[in-house]
Amino acid sequence: MNDPVLLCRDLEKEFVQGDLQVRVLTGVDLEIRRGESIAIVGASGSGKSTLLHLLGGLDVPSAGEVHMNGRNLATLSETERGQLRNRFMGFVYQFHHLLPEFTALENVAMPGLIADLEPEAALAGARACLDKVGLADRLQHKPGEMSGGERQRAAIARALVGKPLCLLADEPTGNLDEKTAGQVFNTMLELNRDFGASLVMVTHNQQLAARMDRQYILHDGRLDQA
Ligand code: ADP
Ligand code: MG
Repeated sequence: MNDPVLLCRDLEKEFVQGDLQVRVLTGVDLEIRRGESIAIVGASGSGKSTLLHLLGGLDVPSAGEVHMNGRNLATLSETERGQLRNRFMGFVYQFHHLLPEFTALENVAMPGLIADLEPEAALAGARACLDKVGLADRLQHKPGEMSGGERQRAAIARALVGKPLCLLADEPTGNLDEKTAGQVFNTMLELNRDFGASLVMVTHNQQLAARMDRQYILHDGRLDQA
């Protein structure tokens, strides 16, 4: 119960392309406890997305360990890793990745439907989450009928509908104007405070980063507390 939501030790990642070897992460340690909010900043290409992929079990490290809610991902099969990820992690990206032909309600209900929830339950959960992110009056809107900020809120609702322990957000406000970015960020921080889901957010916005519990800088393959 008191295990960190996420923990990584000596995490390394290198990509090999032909003759070229790119060492992106050279020994990253991080521990994220329940309810904490953590900002990761760093130059473009410094490995922020790579780190989030490893923390979320979407990719495997070259060396080192990731523990998700106390389970060492290296000891699990790909299927088990996927199950753990679906149960404990939510993801938000710079682009919303909503399905264009479905309404906000259907998009947010989708993870529940895929997980074989009763449609009534999936829709009820989706409605509640859309309400929480301030989209109660956009349920029947398709992504093309919503503003950029509204789409990103819908993506956040979709990430939270499974009640994850931790939300991994990769530049979630990077595609929004400053005012909308602030609003979307406030929504994420409120959800973090009200529901206790930890929040790990990659951002270029120093002001937003400063409002989180801890700030880290990724530089030369290492993560340092700012
Ligand atoms: P950031 O998110 O900080 O901008 P990334 O994690 O996307 O950085 O990328 C870090 C480095 O790793 C870059 O040099 C990138 O080219 C390289 N990289 C990322 N993913 C791959 C991949 N799948 N194959 C090869 N190189 C990759
Ligand atoms: Mg990135």
